[in-house]
Amino acid sequence: MSKLAIYPGSFNPVTIGHLSIISKAANLFDRLVVVVAENPDKKYAVPIEQRVNWINEITKTIENVSVTVLPSGVPLVRISDVIHEKPDVIIRGLRNGNDLAYEMDQQKYNDMLGGVDRHMETVFLTAQHFNHISSSHLREVAKLFPYEHFNLVFGWSATTACGMYPPDDLSNYNKVLFPIYEAYHGK
Ligand code: ADP
Repeated sequence: MSKLAIYPGSFNPVTIGHLSIISKAANLFDRLVVVVAENPDKKYAVPIEQRVNWINEITKTIENVSVTVLPSGVPLVRISDVIHEKPDVIIRGLRNGNDLAYEMDQQKYNDMLGGVDRHMETVFLTAQHFNHISSSHLREVAKLFPYEHFNLVFGWSATTACGMYPPDDLSNYNKVLFPIYEAYHGK
């Protein structure tokens, strides 16, 4: 049976950690939809269309991945109203114990509010050697540091990947690295 997974988040902006999770989930499931959530309560320096474009750019060689927006006001458990099919699985990434505690509660809320008919099993994945990378750290470093430092910390290279799983070449991420830096630098 064909399995559809969704990977929701703010992706403000997408990082090599996110791409690592996307790559692993695309290997595990038949199709993966990356869901970029619009949150009117948060202020974003970069519009959602641009954040979606960056994800499209770095995933265009992964055939079973697509990207969609979850409009503000629509809870994730109602995603089937947006994509017109019911996903089997929600992918969430874990970086550390704090993420785990938060995500376990979130899973419970999704289960209770989604109901049995809309149930989507939550699957947790880690990005291992990219566990320390977060969008908020990326924005902070982009704001304050020169590009060469930013590139060293947030770009993909065989060295940063340490030859560990996923073995896939995630260097596509580097195509958006400078545009991302420019978008957040000095902001
Ligand atoms: P949210 O606002 O929903 O936390 P994010 O865009 O920050 O959205 O993250 C989306 C998902 O990706 C979350 O499950 C988050 O824990 C996970 N994630 C983000 N960065 C990493 C990383 N470096 N390693 C593993 N998971 C990550």
